[in-house]
Amino acid sequence: ALSLRGLSKAFAGNAVLNGVSLDAEPGEFIALVGPSGCGKSTLLRILAGLDHADAGEILVGGKDMSNVAAADRNIAMVFQSYALYPHLTAGQNIAVPLAMKRLGRTQRLPLIGSLLPGQKAIRVGIAQDVREMAALLKIDHLLDRKPGQMSGGQRQRVALARAMVRHPSIFLMDEPLSNLDANLRVHARGEIVELHRRAGVPTLYVTHDQAEALSMADRVAVMIGGNLLQLAAPETIYNDPAHIEVARFVGQPR
Ligand code: ATP
Ligand code: MG
Repeated sequence: ALSLRGLSKAFAGNAVLNGVSLDAEPGEFIALVGPSGCGKSTLLRILAGLDHADAGEILVGGKDMSNVAAADRNIAMVFQSYALYPHLTAGQNIAVPLAMKRLGRTQRLPLIGSLLPGQKAIRVGIAQDVREMAALLKIDHLLDRKPGQMSGGQRQRVALARAMVRHPSIFLMDEPLSNLDANLRVHARGEIVELHRRAGVPTLYVTHDQAEALSMADRVAVMIGGNLLQLAAPETIYNDPAHIEVARFVGQPR
């Protein structure tokens, strides 16, 4: 399980997170929604270890992750941009986290310095895991293509495969579908929920799309101005918003 305790963050004196606390059950899908600039991406980046909180704790299975390096957290993150390595094929992209996991800390550095397609760690040994993940996401036929030779929806699947292949203990997604057209988005929703179910790990999913939050999430977290104002089942959020700001945001004045 994932527990956040009083996470706070300011940039140059401007508070962006004001003591955010949250508990996610194992296997729970939480949609994180809120106005632009309310701190959603900052929160995910801090969980992933890409940024540091000024105060607070991140507990995964009771263990504080705050001072654990990003590469050692086993927390996967998928961005809006997908952030695939453009010079690697889909298969090599998916293999990178496996290679990183296998290598010791000192061996990782040269690999990070130059992720070359020919490098043994990315090439071999991990092919079976990559193929299984590709089959699950129906991208088997794309494994030899580079990101520039794939559609947006295909790139999104490769990014999901790369995130899931190392069996993360937490899954974070920051608007992973916002670059897809409406049809693909609806289809991809189901795929992501299915991946989440299989993985059985807590998932935090940032979205601007309330239909996504409603249809995918077990609970919805509403954050406004760096405060987590309500965390409840989707129907509770919509039927019974706990704050006027939540009501305003979800569009139900009361
Ligand atoms: P959106 O829905 O538009 O993606 P968000 O909720 O993800 O918004 P964040 O990206 O977390 O918002 O940003 C929260 C606030 O922190 C914003 O005011 C932003 O300008 C500020 N901010 C984010 N990163 C930095 C940074 N590295 N330096 C200074 N300010 C930052
Ligand atoms: Mg954001």
